[in-house]
Amino acid sequence: MLTKLELPIPARAGRVLLTSSSPGYNLGLDKLGTWLRSLGWATSVNPLRNVVSPGFDLYAFSAVFTWDLPALVEAVQTVPNDREVWIGGPAPSAMPSWVQERTGIQPVLGPDPRFERQPGSYKWCRTTRGCPVGCYFCIVPKIDGKSVLEYDDFEPAPVVVDDNLLRSSWRHQKLVVDKLAGAGFPSIDLNSGFEARRLEQKHVDLYGRLPLKAWRVAFDERKETDHVRSAIQLLRANGIPSKQIPCYVLAGNEPFADCLWRAQKVLEWGGEPRIQMLKPLNWLRPRKDIWVNPRLDWTTELAVNFPRYWYSYAWRRVEWEDWARAGFRYDGVMTTEGLGRLRATRTSAIARWAASSAADFATSESDSETSVA
Ligand code: SF4
Repeated sequence: MLTKLELPIPARAGRVLLTSSSPGYNLGLDKLGTWLRSLGWATSVNPLRNVVSPGFDLYAFSAVFTWDLPALVEAVQTVPNDREVWIGGPAPSAMPSWVQERTGIQPVLGPDPRFERQPGSYKWCRTTRGCPVGCYFCIVPKIDGKSVLEYDDFEPAPVVVDDNLLRSSWRHQKLVVDKLAGAGFPSIDLNSGFEARRLEQKHVDLYGRLPLKAWRVAFDERKETDHVRSAIQLLRANGIPSKQIPCYVLAGNEPFADCLWRAQKVLEWGGEPRIQMLKPLNWLRPRKDIWVNPRLDWTTELAVNFPRYWYSYAWRRVEWEDWARAGFRYDGVMTTEGLGRLRATRTSAIARWAASSAADFATSESDSETSVA
């Protein structure tokens, strides 16, 4: 059973091993390490995800995705018996009882107040926490809460991983853009994107001051149709190219025809669909495993091939219906065949250039011979 967790400040410094059971950068662990170093600790980052080495006083674990929790549990089970263990991060916060039953350790739920605001030089930053929207398929409200906390003192970084920046105050958003613009990054990834329902011209004007990699939006349910259409059309009207408007299309949450329709509408309005297949929030099997919503008309075949169609850009050459009818493949001219022709053209151009250069060279040689003479 989960109880109110004491979050101790270590009385004396020692050696800590930081283990992230999810691949990639882990902002929380980076902040924890920075905080402990400020208290005199020696920190080491574990290169492995599911096992630790002995010799540390404290073992800290984090996982971002629930499908990484089995690896986290395996790693915790290798910690020497008499050592202290801390567990936190988004995935343990999503399934704390499951983790506690298998490790005997109660995870920290949500952001850890001991180092959430720890100053430092990080690869990512957060300027807010929380989102009041409460989408049923999203873990953010459970972990970060439904009210928006604004961190005006954030340290700018080129990747901003807020939950829903447009739900923060206008004053905060202007401050965020001022600080990011002042940092001079060549490119900025506002990773959580722009909530279509909130996006207005004033936001395009404000965030347009930044070298954004993309203007991410999402089209998760048909009921958002009017908002998403307006948002994409607004971005296009401001001269933003389609390839810079990735629109995340949740799939598997509505009947197949509705999901297909949403993706096709994104294209029609001027964005590029990025399919995200719905998974249960307590998904523990490997990430690549397929989940098929038993309440709808999806099949494993569709769940595999629908994202393939969009991510492979097959949609540029063929309609979904034709692609599906051809066995989920494209049977027209292949890009590689086109490339073959391109290579042949390039080879013959190079040959012509080489021949004409040789002729020029011969001419200039004879010219110089003539002039010397
Ligand atoms: S708006 Fe975005 S962050 Fe907020 S609950 Fe919905 S999916 Fe999550």
